[in-house]
This record gives sequence, C-alpha cells and structure tokens, in this order.
Amino acid sequence: MKLILLGAPGAGKGTVAKLLTEMDGSVQISTGDILRAAVKAGTELGKKAEAAMKAGELVSDDLIMGIMGERLKEDDCKAGFLLDGFPRTIPQADALKGLLENMGIKLDAVVNLVVPREEILNRLTTRRTCVDCGAIYNVRSNPPKEEGVCDKCGGDVVQRDDETEEAISKRLDVFNEQTAPLVEYYRNEGNLLDADSTNSSNVVDVIKKELGV
Ligand code: AMP
Repeated sequence: MKLILLGAPGAGKGTVAKLLTEMDGSVQISTGDILRAAVKAGTELGKKAEAAMKAGELVSDDLIMGIMGERLKEDDCKAGFLLDGFPRTIPQADALKGLLENMGIKLDAVVNLVVPREEILNRLTTRRTCVDCGAIYNVRSNPPKEEGVCDKCGGDVVQRDDETEEAISKRLDVFNEQTAPLVEYYRNEGNLLDADSTNSSNVVDVIKKELGV
C-alpha cells in the first residue's frame, strides 16, 4: 500500500507504520529516522539538519525534498511505502504531489492519526528510542527488558534530544502551525481517512477496512 501517515509527534505514526510493514512488505520511510542517522554519521546532511532538529524546528523544505526525491525512486518503494513524518508543510505536500504525478504513482490514502493532546504529551515525555535501530519503547507501558538496552539489537535506549519538555512544546507548536493544515489540504483532495490513534491497532483495522486488505 502507498500511504501518508499524518499526525502530531507522538500520534503513533512510527508504530502504525511498523505494524503495516509487517503486514504487507511496504517500506516505512521516516524522514526523522533518515535525518537522525545522518546526524549520527556526521554527514553534510546531518550537519545542516542538526540545529533545527535539536530545537524542535523543521528542517528546510529544500533539504527534505532532496532526500525524498531520491528515496522514492529506490527499488524497495515499488512494493509500497508508508510515509512517516513527511510531508510536514504545504510546500512539501505540493512538491510530493508533483513528484508522484511524474512517477505515475497514486496514493491509496492519507491517514490522519488523531490523539488527544494530553495523551500526546504523556507519550512523548515517557518515550525512549534505540539509538541504533530506532526501536521505540515507553518507560511506563513498554520498557525494554533491561533498562537502557534495546531488546532487539542491544543498542542504547535513550530519550531523544528533541524530547525534552521545551523541545516537545516547540514541536507541538510547529505541528499546529505548519503540519495541521495538511489535514484540510488532503481532505480537499478527497483521500483523507481519519483514525482514532489512541490505540495503534485500531488504526490498522481502519486502514484494512477502508482499503479492503
Ligand atoms: P520525527 O522523528 O518525524 O518527529 O522528526 C524529528 C525531527 O526531524 C523534526 O522535529 C524535524 O526537525 C525533522 N524532520 C523530520 N521530518 C521532517 C520534514 N518532513 N520536514 C522538516 N523537518 C523534518
């Protein structure tokens, strides 16, 4: 399937993407993961993105479109892709539209993951991430078996730099200002699917029912 997963930080985009990936072999493409890997590796891209990411602000549209223009052409996307954290601005959505039209690709749906703000704040402050494989944990509901150690790869499980209270609050403001308008953008395009994401498996059920998969 070819989907955009839209939702605030902490709405469960990554978790839903992983569940869908296991279901049909579509590839998860997370611009946040790509950027974090670039920062970690100290590449030019990472150097350009690091400051904005740490502050909870968005990386420039040009940089993001450069990454995605290349990524969507890779072979593994042919089986389907789940866009997680992209697009995040109207210019990115416009650019993606042109890109997909040029490639002759039609999206199956844009899924709007809806979670109450209180729950988002709770999830983000308790979320922990593996620095090596990106696996996501939660100190309350889903801690790693050994504190600070990833169950899957043995990597360090830490709180992300942009998950301090200050950066979270900034990211939510940025989401409301720059990304939330995409809900109406895609509603007008006629392919928006609203899903209550308090529980991630509910989102998967809504998608399965809608797409008949
Ligand atoms: P995420 O893991 O999706 O929450 O992304 C982490 C950070 O990476 C964001 O707060 C932004 O600084 C940056 N980022 C990820 N995706 C995008 C995007 N599509 N546009 C601009 N910045 C992005």
